[in-house]
Amino acid sequence: MISLMKADILNTVNNMNKAIFFDRDGTLNVEVNYLHKKEEFIWTDGAVEAIKYCNDNGYLAIVVTNQSGVARGYYPESAIMELYSWMNSQLAEAGAHLDGIYYCPHYPQGIIPKYAVECDCRKPKPGMLIQAAREQNIDLAASYLIGDGARDVECAKAAGVYGIRYTGGNLYESLIAGIMQNQRNGAR
Ligand SMILES: [Mg+2]
Ligand SMILES: [Zn+2]
Repeated sequence: MISLMKADILNTVNNMNKAIFFDRDGTLNVEVNYLHKKEEFIWTDGAVEAIKYCNDNGYLAIVVTNQSGVARGYYPESAIMELYSWMNSQLAEAGAHLDGIYYCPHYPQGIIPKYAVECDCRKPKPGMLIQAAREQNIDLAASYLIGDGARDVECAKAAGVYGIRYTGGNLYESLIAGIMQNQRNGAR
């Protein structure tokens, strides 16, 4: 090969994938309580650019989101996947895409028995990241999570992922600043 894609070069380090995990509500979209309709979904500034950055730089772009509205009986699991498909159709217009979504439908105090349980996936627990790593061969130590909640950063830490707290403003700029900070700390 005369030329390798940048992603290929990065991935030859250990033959594993790298990911940037995104919280959804309050991070990719403006916070709306128990959002489940596309009509209520407004991308945050820089969200599409942040996802495109992953696509162009050898990172899987994966959503990890607590969706206790399912356990609370506000909407079915299918609504989460329908919204995810719609998000990807929007991203396609910008030449970007998400590579996956992991969601936690549980909540111990919920009203739907099947979902009203203690689980290992509700953030700040790291279950969704661990499952993603197993299913998609992700090197968690070379990956990032960006989210607006303290529990997002806690979840990242518990999984050995570099966590970036998003405090508003442009998501793409926040992501790049976090990656640069990690690199200054001597990460690979
Ligand atoms: Mg959030
Ligand atoms: Zn769960």
